[in-house]
Amino acid sequence: MAKRLDGRLLAARHEASLRSTIAQHLATAGCTSYPPGLVVVRVGDDPASGVYVRKKAQACGRVGIESRIIHHPATASQQEVLESIHQLNGDSSCHGILVQLPIPPTLNACQLLLAVDPSKDVDGLHPLNLGRLMRGEPGLRSCTPAGVMALLDHGGIALDGTRALVIGRSILVGQPLGIMLQQANATVTVAHSHTRNLADHCRQAELLVVAAGKPGLVGADWVRPGVVVVDVGIHRVPPQQPQQQGTQGTLRGDVCFSAVEPLASHITPVPGGVGPMTVAMLLSNTVQAWQRHTTVTPA
Ligand code: NAD
Repeated sequence: MAKRLDGRLLAARHEASLRSTIAQHLATAGCTSYPPGLVVVRVGDDPASGVYVRKKAQACGRVGIESRIIHHPATASQQEVLESIHQLNGDSSCHGILVQLPIPPTLNACQLLLAVDPSKDVDGLHPLNLGRLMRGEPGLRSCTPAGVMALLDHGGIALDGTRALVIGRSILVGQPLGIMLQQANATVTVAHSHTRNLADHCRQAELLVVAAGKPGLVGADWVRPGVVVVDVGIHRVPPQQPQQQGTQGTLRGDVCFSAVEPLASHITPVPGGVGPMTVAMLLSNTVQAWQRHTTVTPA
C-alpha cells in the first residue's frame, strides 16, 4: 500500500513557519502595523473560484497576512480591471496581487497577468517570473508546481535521473512543473491531449504527475508497481447517494485513487494532497514579496 503524500500536514507546517517568519520580520522592522498584504482580483462569479478565494483568505488570516478581495462583475471592462491592478501595483500595503483564474472569456487574461508588477506576482504567472524559472534564477514561482515539488521533497522522493511523466501542458501547472522537475535532474516527458499511446508512457514512468483535468483518467492498468503518483486534478462529483443529498458532493482527482493506491509507492490524496500545498505556496510567495518590499530598519 502506498505512503500518502499528505498536503494538509505539510501545509500546516509551512503555515507555522510563515507565522513565525512574519512575527520575526515585524519585530526586526520595529513596527507592528505593517503586515504582509495580499489582494485577490476576481472577475465574475465562477462558483469554484468563490470557494478557492475564500480558502485563500482564511489561510491568510491563519498566518497573519491581511487579505482583501476586489470583486468585479462579469460585465467589467478590460480597462476597469487593468485600473484595479495598476492601483494595487502602487499600493504600498499590498505586497501580493493574484488575478483569480478563470476570468470571463470576454477579457484578455494574458494582458491582465502582464499588468501585475512582477515583484507582487505571487501566482508566478508574469512572463518575467516564468522566464526566471526557465533560466533557473530566483523569483516568484507558480504555486501549484511549487507545491508539488515541496510535497516530493518532503516525501523524500529522489528525482535525480528519475523517469517522470507530467500529463498536461498548461502554463498554470504542466509547463512550469516540467521545468522544475528537469531542474531537479529528472528526465521529463510532458504529455497532452495529442499524445499517442498515453497509457504506454504512463507505464514507463517512475514518477507520474497527472494534471489533465479529466476525472479518473489514470487507472491501475496504466501504472507500474512502485510508481510515485501526484494527482493535481480536482473535480466536484455531485451527490450520488440519497444520504448525500443536500451536500456539495465529494472531490476526486484525475487518478482512480482506490485502484492505484495499492500499486504505488507514494500517492497524493484528493482532497488533501496538492490543493493545500497550492495555498501554502501562495502564502509563502506573499511573505517573500513582503520581505523584499519592506524596508527593515533596525529596532
Ligand atoms: P488545463 O485545462 O489548462 O490543461 C489541461 C492539460 O491537460 C492540457 O495541456 C491538455 O492538453 C491536457 N489534457 C487534457 N486531456 C488530456 C488527455 N485525455 N490526455 C492527455 N492530456 C490531456 O488545466 P490546468 O489548469 O492545468 O488544471 C489541470 C487540473 O488540475 C484541473 O482538474 C484543475 O482543476 C486542477 N488544478 C488543481 C490545482 C490544485 O491546487 N489542486 C491547481 C490548479 C489546477
